[in-house]
Amino acid sequence: MNYYKVYVDGTNAFYTYLDEKDEYKIGDFIMVSFRNKKRGGIIAAKEEKDSFDFKVLPILGRAPGEISLSENFIKLLLWITDYYLASFGQVFSAAIPANLKIKYKEIYVFSEKINPQTFEEQELFEYMKKKKSISKATLEKKFHKTFLNRMVKEGNLILEKVLHEKREKKNEECTAVEEQYREEKVLTPEQKAIKDDIESSDKRYSLIKGVTGSGKTEIYLELIKEAFKKGKGSIFLVPEISLTPQMVNRFRHEFKDSIAILHSGLTDKERAEEWSDLYAGRKKIVLGVRSAIFAPVKDLEYIIIDEEHETSYKQDSNPRYNAKYVGIKRGELEGCKVVLGSATPSIESYYYGKTGVFKLYNLESRYSNAVLPEIEVVDMKGEEDLFFSKTLLKNIAETLRRKEQVMLLLNRKGYSTLVQCKSCGHIEECPHCSIKLNYYSSDQSLKCNYCGISRKFRKKCEKCGSEELIHSGKGVERVEEELKKYFPVRIIRVDSESAKEKGFFEKMYFDFLEGKYDIMIGTQMIAKGLHFPNVTLVGVINADTILNFPDFRAGEKTFQLGTQVAGRAGRGDKKGKVIIQTYQPENYAIEKISQGDYEGFYEKEIENRKILEYTPFSKIINVGISSKNEEELEKISQELVKQINSKEVEVYGPMKSMVYKVKDRYRQHIFIKGSREKINRYKRNLKKIIASFDSGNCRITIDVDPINLI
Ligand code: ADP
Ligand code: ZN
Ligand code: ZN
Repeated sequence: MNYYKVYVDGTNAFYTYLDEKDEYKIGDFIMVSFRNKKRGGIIAAKEEKDSFDFKVLPILGRAPGEISLSENFIKLLLWITDYYLASFGQVFSAAIPANLKIKYKEIYVFSEKINPQTFEEQELFEYMKKKKSISKATLEKKFHKTFLNRMVKEGNLILEKVLHEKREKKNEECTAVEEQYREEKVLTPEQKAIKDDIESSDKRYSLIKGVTGSGKTEIYLELIKEAFKKGKGSIFLVPEISLTPQMVNRFRHEFKDSIAILHSGLTDKERAEEWSDLYAGRKKIVLGVRSAIFAPVKDLEYIIIDEEHETSYKQDSNPRYNAKYVGIKRGELEGCKVVLGSATPSIESYYYGKTGVFKLYNLESRYSNAVLPEIEVVDMKGEEDLFFSKTLLKNIAETLRRKEQVMLLLNRKGYSTLVQCKSCGHIEECPHCSIKLNYYSSDQSLKCNYCGISRKFRKKCEKCGSEELIHSGKGVERVEEELKKYFPVRIIRVDSESAKEKGFFEKMYFDFLEGKYDIMIGTQMIAKGLHFPNVTLVGVINADTILNFPDFRAGEKTFQLGTQVAGRAGRGDKKGKVIIQTYQPENYAIEKISQGDYEGFYEKEIENRKILEYTPFSKIINVGISSKNEEELEKISQELVKQINSKEVEVYGPMKSMVYKVKDRYRQHIFIKGSREKINRYKRNLKKIIASFDSGNCRITIDVDPINLI
């Protein structure tokens, strides 16, 4: 008899149930009776005690599908619940797809123990000798059920349940680019040394810092391939799948039907299917985004996290987990290796690399010695044109003349960030958020980037009717328009507006690769991963867009984006050039981008973090409070801060969020900072206090290790 803590579907707590015949274990999906209703549940942990002052009900049976997760996996979910102060229910739904349909079939397995006596037995034995095992349904068509039952009882046949063998769908057609890859690639000595060392090292964690185009992907691929040959599985995480069509093709081609591609565009049904293929071991490799860190991969050998500095690994709704740290924990629990990679590692990861927590590998040069581009910073203060400096225009012209291609980055979608009336000064704002509406010329609309509302742009002031309007703050649509005035060439714009069309990104990728366009202009979507050998000029229209954010990571993010986009230039055998336009050329993030000096940037940044006690030297928790009622919000925020205040950690606020109102809700937040140990101790209390705190109509969210601070 065992007592278990069971998470009951749709509740937010664990309940105790009894396993009368020792049939179950941690991780089993089961059925229980809860408030007189039959409900599904999952066994999360063993109860320490065995006497209770309430009546403990027995587990009723296995849930349909008879799924059973490993104890380590359940431990992982419990760790996330604990670490991120989330609820187990939230974590569970993030990790396991809804409506899993795991199919089993029953088979008879032949046991050759006994000599056949009767004619019927003789016949069965002849038949089964050849087959060894056969589906229950088929055998029951040939032989009488009562006879088969007797055979089972006597031990001549065994009735077993096995996972249903599904016929594999053929993988989607591979696209043209794959042809280029058909030729076998052999790792360079530098790549091979890293691969071999990761394989043989007894270090669990490693970080590959390799400049853009140095061939990190080739190393990941080799590691996964070798593990696969030994029957081992891997999880490979990328920040966003739709932005890496080349990578997806490459992996598909390599692993065919053994790879599951998990991205946010899958339907629930598709997701559940991939999950069950992995669960059954029909697929062994996963290429996916954030939530793929939960994939039920068997015999896990590697967790590889590409572009580990990307913020999209952190979920910004509940549960607010970071797939990178979940991966690190999973590696520890399952005893597999975790490999992080980036050209611009996050300050935290590089610090862990330098201090020996991660084993650090460096790839200093590009594959086949393609030269890194020359980077020039242009101070926009003295320029006439607000969009393009003379240097950038001159370089675009020269590049086009050489029949090479140009990529321009502006990290802002839309046409203008605000529309103001010249006669009355009125600015169009969102009725639901405290933010100005952005103008989009592509569909003549005004949109809110926070709540998503959109309305027709009527070309006159909503207040006084004047038709004299000023557009300020340049977006990528505006830059496209301005660019056309200078260059009558084929320009393609890539932003979340144009990418709404299904398959746009992939088509754009091939069109641009084939030279159907001369210039690509886009938002950060174009900064990463893309490989166009004929792009020799990259221009950053305004490097200051992120730099001016009130966020301690603003410098880091600017450096990363700048370096990544610079890495798009000169990837073939022609040398590339990068032009960065800024109003703050003296800022060290900009300066270090231009020198291609990650190391220098890191030294400066880590020094600042130390002085200001930011991560990795401290931990942060952000508590958000929101309400439709401003007065109530103020009152509740003040009460909350009194309760959660502590001498052990630093508590700041409550203060209004940078965008104070979003979707009609006013927002405040409390910012908590302290050493790792102190924050960990404080966290337990915080969760308890908030759970019992009467927040009225306010919503409270807790973000541990927040990325987004505004
Ligand atoms: P990273 O991931 O570091 O940015 P990639 O792995 O995308 O770099 O490599 C850049 C380019 O160099 C790609 O086109 C890749 O196919 C090529 N490449 C890298 N290593 C090799 C190799 N060992 N053999 C052939 N081509 C390689
Ligand atoms: Zn007006
Ligand atoms: Zn809005």
